Amino acid sequence: MRKLVLATRNAGKEHELKALLGGLPLEVVSLRDYPDVPELVEDGDTFAANAAAKARQAAAFTGEMALADDSGLEVDALAGRPGVHSARFAGPRATDADRNAKLLQMLEGVPAERRTARFKAAMAVAWPGGGCGLPGLLEVEEACEGLITEAPRGDGGHGFDPVFLYGPAGRTFAEMTIDEKNEVSHRGRAARAIRGLLLARTRS
Ligand code: IMP
Repeated sequence: MRKLVLATRNAGKEHELKALLGGLPLEVVSLRDYPDVPELVEDGDTFAANAAAKARQAAAFTGEMALADDSGLEVDALAGRPGVHSARFAGPRATDADRNAKLLQMLEGVPAERRTARFKAAMAVAWPGGGCGLPGLLEVEEACEGLITEAPRGDGGHGFDPVFLYGPAGRTFAEMTIDEKNEVSHRGRAARAIRGLLLARTRS
């Protein structure tokens, strides 16, 4: 069976993506199976540029079809920040709690109606040496709209989940189960979209 390499060494992300991409006629592995591949460069200005760059590098280094993702939080009152810098928002050694505290502090005094934000997720699949006569890159980008809370709520999830209120549920992502979150989240939507494109491509 043909391989699909997930361009990540994060075991949690690998597990999550494998579940979201289930049922494809592909053997899904990750960069943890390729210890000699160097750190991928991720210096684009957009989620889409970063996902495409990482997918292309992973395909070139492994010689296999590769899927990469890039995601983050855009807060309107902060002109779209932290955006592509979400993971490093409060410095290299900061924890999720530090990043959430910094975000809430930056939004102090901002009223509820101006605390709008969205998570975005871009995903890309690249082929080594191009696409065998077909376009060499599949790309999707999806978003999930919400509001930044006044204080963290809930114990589930990761990252900015405790401060991201998903309006239709009236709960933060950290107060939802992983299945409830995947149903509506940026990453769940992007994974379902790229899975559909991959399925069509592997059948053609
Ligand atoms: P990535 O792993 O480079 O895509 O980094 C994404 C960063 O954005 C993470 O470190 C989180 O801070 C944030 N982020 C992206 N998606 C989510 C999510 O679903 N929940 C909470 N935080 C997220």
